Amino acid sequence: MLINLEKLQKSEVLFDFQEDADFFPALAEVEEAGDCRFREPVRGRIRSYLAGDFVEVEGRFETTIEQTCSRCLKQTTQPLAADFAVTFSAGATRVENDREDEIELSAEELGLIPFTGEEIDLTAAVQEQVVINIPFRPLCADSCRGLCPLCGHDLNQGDCGCQGPAFNSKFAALKDFKVKKKD
Ligand SMILES: [Zn+2]
Ligand SMILES: [Zn+2]
Repeated sequence: MLINLEKLQKSEVLFDFQEDADFFPALAEVEEAGDCRFREPVRGRIRSYLAGDFVEVEGRFETTIEQTCSRCLKQTTQPLAADFAVTFSAGATRVENDREDEIELSAEELGLIPFTGEEIDLTAAVQEQVVINIPFRPLCADSCRGLCPLCGHDLNQGDCGCQGPAFNSKFAALKDFKVKKKD
């Protein structure tokens, strides 16, 4: 997952990659925490080119993850994929403000990823893209009805017959709540 700068100065760099999830330290951590299991390697495509002092990287990743549905608690396996674009910058960059004073901003302050040396390692950037795309509240389906809060029955398999006083009392309280208008 390295981009060689010497190659990049001659032409854009294109390549496909495929790595097991535990190749990426952050993804191994996610698996260990039990939030998500990677059922397939992380595959993807990278296109990189020089733009002035910056190295632009456009890519896409795809994998398959297994998570626990946040409503019905069943395991659910789903594809995870996203396009991304990140910009790398060698060191600090000068930016002029309105008053023509020069302010030196570091690459990180500009939202750029700093790098040094003759190679850019994409491991950290790619794993970050995977992590930020993992659903925070996974669902087996948007229409998942979840579990009955009273008896725990999976409502995706039909109604359980509970009257759901927990919900009713909540709405009853709302019904009696009236906003007084100020004169
Ligand atoms: Zn569900
Ligand atoms: Zn029930």
